[in-house]
Amino acid sequence: MAAEASGARVIALRCSACHGALPAASNDVAFRCPQCGRAWEIIGGVLRERPSAFVAPPPSPRHPILYLPYWSFPVSAKATPSGFQEESHLKARDRAAKFERAFVSAFSIYRPTYVGEWGLVYTRLPPKWQTRTGHGPRAPGATISGFDARKLAALYILGEIDRAADIGSLEIELDVGEPELWAIPCYDLGEGIRCPWSRAELPVGALDDVAEIRRVTQRLEA
Ligand SMILES: [Zn+2]
Repeated sequence: MAAEASGARVIALRCSACHGALPAASNDVAFRCPQCGRAWEIIGGVLRERPSAFVAPPPSPRHPILYLPYWSFPVSAKATPSGFQEESHLKARDRAAKFERAFVSAFSIYRPTYVGEWGLVYTRLPPKWQTRTGHGPRAPGATISGFDARKLAALYILGEIDRAADIGSLEIELDVGEPELWAIPCYDLGEGIRCPWSRAELPVGALDDVAEIRRVTQRLEA
């Protein structure tokens, strides 16, 4: 399944379900099969299937669409004040109860705390998405593992609860489920990308290998 060629690691992977070729760049650890839409993650040298979904693009998009990979996790969170109940504690409790999912970018972003991490934005304010499964769009592979993303997802949720009340004054029960690989559309503006829902923009320089992302997506349009 893996071969060494001229010093670079070339991975020739096939979907375990439909045997379609998986588009795997050298840093990718998870992929969406372009033929059947199933998602696979390399774990311990073998492919493990992950639940897979994609988000329908906004109606009448005004720009070309690129799909980016995100890890999505079912979440259940409970925050109970451990001492006196102040208003901020109740706010934290209500905020914790609202979370149903967490999202983490599965593609590499340079200086995410500076330019913004849309996975955190989607965790904070889940847009009203229509999600679908099956064939769907082509999307680049994930360079961040589901394991690492799961730890980040827990930190995102804790950080959001902490914005209402110090989590040190709360008893937190947090369950972050198994990773799912989602393809989420954004607008390609040429010099940057724009989120159709939050309207946030990321400069092209903040993304790792936009040319590869465009190449993978353009095959869908061709
Ligand atoms: Zn497949």
